[in-house]
Amino acid sequence: MNLFDFIKTRIPILNVIQDYTSLKKAGKYWKGRCPFHSEKTASFTVSPEREIFYCFGCHLSGDVISFVAKIENCNQLEAAKLLAEKHKIDIPEDIMGQAHSQNHEEKQKHFDACRHSADWFHESLKSSKIALSYLKKRGLDEGTINRYKIGYFPGDLGAIKKLIKHAQSNSILTKNLIEANILFEGKSILYSPFEERIIFPITDHLGRFCGFGGRIFKPNDERAKYYNSKENPSFTKGSLLFGLDLAKKEIQNKNALFLVEGYTDCVAMAQHGIQNVVATLGTSCTRDHLKLVSRYAEQLFIIYDGDNAGEAAVLRLTKLCWESNIDPKVIMLPRGEDPASFLEKGGDLLKLCSKSQDIFMFFLNTIGKGFTGLTLNKKLQTIREFIQVIGQLDDDLKKDILLQNASKVFEVPFDTLKKELDQILESPKQALHQAQEKSTSDHQEDDSLKKITNLEKQLFCAILDDNDLIQETDKEYIIAYMAQPLKGILEKLNPKGLNENNHNFKDLFNKLNNIEQKIVAQVLLETGRIEEAEGLNELILQFHKSNWKTIVNDIKILLSKANQDDTQYILQNFLKLKKKLLDKGLI
Ligand SMILES: [Zn+2]
Repeated sequence: MNLFDFIKTRIPILNVIQDYTSLKKAGKYWKGRCPFHSEKTASFTVSPEREIFYCFGCHLSGDVISFVAKIENCNQLEAAKLLAEKHKIDIPEDIMGQAHSQNHEEKQKHFDACRHSADWFHESLKSSKIALSYLKKRGLDEGTINRYKIGYFPGDLGAIKKLIKHAQSNSILTKNLIEANILFEGKSILYSPFEERIIFPITDHLGRFCGFGGRIFKPNDERAKYYNSKENPSFTKGSLLFGLDLAKKEIQNKNALFLVEGYTDCVAMAQHGIQNVVATLGTSCTRDHLKLVSRYAEQLFIIYDGDNAGEAAVLRLTKLCWESNIDPKVIMLPRGEDPASFLEKGGDLLKLCSKSQDIFMFFLNTIGKGFTGLTLNKKLQTIREFIQVIGQLDDDLKKDILLQNASKVFEVPFDTLKKELDQILESPKQALHQAQEKSTSDHQEDDSLKKITNLEKQLFCAILDDNDLIQETDKEYIIAYMAQPLKGILEKLNPKGLNENNHNFKDLFNKLNNIEQKIVAQVLLETGRIEEAEGLNELILQFHKSNWKTIVNDIKILLSKANQDDTQYILQNFLKLKKKLLDKGLI
């Protein structure tokens, strides 16, 4: 038994989740407000029977371990340990040891797959005139391209094969590339969303390659501008910063660092000689980011595009900084400029540094800017919002200094603000609510299920339920003609020739990787169960009918290749199926 099974058999998922949100029974499931995104309706669903959860709002899902990992912002191993501690369960030493070494091995495989892919992307860039000339046009020289190991994933037919070959010569299997989310399995081919993109490899602070950002660059490319690797235990956007490994030394030398919002900004700054720069991965700054940077330098400069300093974004960042006890300075670029364009025009960033404001004054000025023109209601709301942020500070003196400044900006007497603050502090519920407020910007919807029909989902669930009502032949055909990614999951769970009749859902679930688990949870909880034979049989026939043409074609090919024994078996099954469909008048 592995560590995760060990924990799961001892701690019911309901007990754990109910510590974070209150759940009410609704049929087989339990429902409540999602602890990961703010909502008024209850979209968060837990199946105690299956030991999984799924949120119909933000689409997070998984088992009890991934729930804790997500909500406590830690990896799965840490989550398992945390659960054991909290529920006072002793983990046998052999189970713990095995978990540690397995975790280590899996991570290493991921890093290796990413590193060798990065090598190949980088080499591919060097032989692509069009990609190189694009980067040159953007002002990047060879030194910068090499420093960040910028690459290119060509889109021609043989490219994926070449990548696989390169990986194989470095002991990386295709499976590893798929698990690292570099390649994806389509109906019959492998593909990659990174194809035809400039590739920015992302390393962690130790320089281990763990993911990629890909940018389109061809004029008629209409896909999203950026595509980032999907999250996994070794690649969490909320705790990684692009370029940190390369910038570390310079950050320590200068005891200062610049934080920007995108790869291109980061690379452009380094190109202009400012090397103590890092970027978030297309997401907003998190507590983990701030913690990470504060380990390397005392002074943090956050650069905001002239257009981008939305009040809400600044408010959010200010809160985070105060909670993390970090006092960054904010540099405002002239309107319409980003770091790259500003430097390109010969702008002097160091001069802007000397004019930077600390985040508190920046925040205060941002909300104070239009303050006098606001309606009375809006004014009250703004002041309260601001005071709530201050209420979270531990340091009383700091609170008073901030209130004093605020009193000038808002033109409200200090004592009035102070009274308001005291009132807020007396209301513990509100403070708690504030502290628990989470960002939902990282939750991206998985679109791999959009093309799956309802019929397919229902049959998928029926097979997972190990439904005795489905005959073996039907099952074989259903799995063979199911759409991906459901087909792959069923194949994993129903290996050919293995007739596990009494399988247990938890064991099956554990065979799957994170993404597959998410898919299973989502489909199961949104589809529900078919209990009676007649309805199910109807669905099965409908499914066969919809695939009939392909089945007939495939049978011809299969028979031409099969040996005598197989021929008989294949033919028998096929004729059985044909008769069933004929009897119902479906073909
Ligand atoms: Zn949610």
